Amino acid sequence: MDKCSFCGRDKKDTNLLIAGISGHICDSCIEQAYEIVQEEMKKNSEFDVNSIKLLKPVEIKKFLDSYVIGQEDAKKFISVAVYNHYKRLMQSNRREDDDIEIEKSNIILVGETGTGKTLLARTIAKMLHVPFTIVDATVLTEAGYVGEDIESILTRLLQVADYNVEAAEKGIVFIDEIDKIARKGDNPSITRDVSGEGVQQGLLKLLEGSVVNVPPQGGRKHPDQKMIPVNTKNILFICGGAFDGIDKKIAQRLNTKVVGYTATKNTERIERDNLLQYIAPQDLKAYGLIPEIIGRLPVLTYLHPLDRTALRNILTEPKNAIIKQYLKLFKIDGIELKFENDVMDYIVDKAIEFKLGARGLRSICEHIMIDAMYELPSTATNKIVVSKKYAEEKLEKVSVKKLKVA
Ligand code: ADP
Repeated sequence: MDKCSFCGRDKKDTNLLIAGISGHICDSCIEQAYEIVQEEMKKNSEFDVNSIKLLKPVEIKKFLDSYVIGQEDAKKFISVAVYNHYKRLMQSNRREDDDIEIEKSNIILVGETGTGKTLLARTIAKMLHVPFTIVDATVLTEAGYVGEDIESILTRLLQVADYNVEAAEKGIVFIDEIDKIARKGDNPSITRDVSGEGVQQGLLKLLEGSVVNVPPQGGRKHPDQKMIPVNTKNILFICGGAFDGIDKKIAQRLNTKVVGYTATKNTERIERDNLLQYIAPQDLKAYGLIPEIIGRLPVLTYLHPLDRTALRNILTEPKNAIIKQYLKLFKIDGIELKFENDVMDYIVDKAIEFKLGARGLRSICEHIMIDAMYELPSTATNKIVVSKKYAEEKLEKVSVKKLKVA
């Protein structure tokens, strides 16, 4: 009787037994072996930093262009920062005889919510195929207080890297809402607030690069868990925040500078309604970030509020634009979907009217399309044209509250 040479099962106990030169293998051993192979390949290839194909800044920007609309300055700064970061990383693998050490180029992005900060960070990670995680600074507190320890930032990175420490050590962490841990007030002698300065101090050691003991499961619920040492030296940190009201700090700084110098000349040149473009490290300090943190985030750039044209382009232009996704979804069911041109303008109008920004575009579209997506697959229909009238009818039934997204 033939047997599987791996598990010893008789042929009759298997679904399939394949004969080799000097043995047999059954279907379940093949499946298991396949899984092992996949697992190993994943470990070896998915996050193989040495295989990062480093694009030049211009090419990085081009890549970003296909996903992120506008934000030219931010894209340029990020492209250079990422290029330098990975150049530094590759250089540190080689031994050079000079003493010049390229410093880390962690990035800080300032801009209203929903203008593409997270999208930029995510797109960079996609391009590089490195582990990427997003953490919200508001959940971080100092050890001993309710909330998550600073180290838990790295737990998530380890998790997405499948606990491949070497890969995690070359990943990207996006820290959102960094402005929420600002010290309240510019005066350092003010009573220390636990949520702000302490957390900033804690973050410092991650940003500057050190070996941190990371709880593999995060939190403090498992006091006995074995810590995993992770070196943050080569992890790229991208911080983002809306910094509500920072324009006033910028205005103050610009005004004080102007006074006493060639006042009229300088004031003329300042675009009052887009002060963010003048952002400088001292504004972050005035807002309540400690100078050490600012020093560890040397690349400072900003994102514009999205105007009508940008919102319109976001609907249709990016590689995975919302509208393209609907076309594809319907195509899979053999249905040709068409949007009349004024529908796009209508969607943008609504997003602006309800102050929903880019994030609102999707929820508006979803409410317009839900009935069609629900009903059409069960019918013989093979074409649908969405007109402005159709969109209005669908959207009128929805309350604005429902459209608001977190
Ligand atoms: P932020 O991090 O600045 O709050 P996000 O990057 O999360 O904003 O943006 C929310 C969503 O809005 C994105 O997932 C994307 O669909 C859309 N979006 C925002 N800004 C842009 C942009 N500049 N280009 C393309 N899509 C954008």
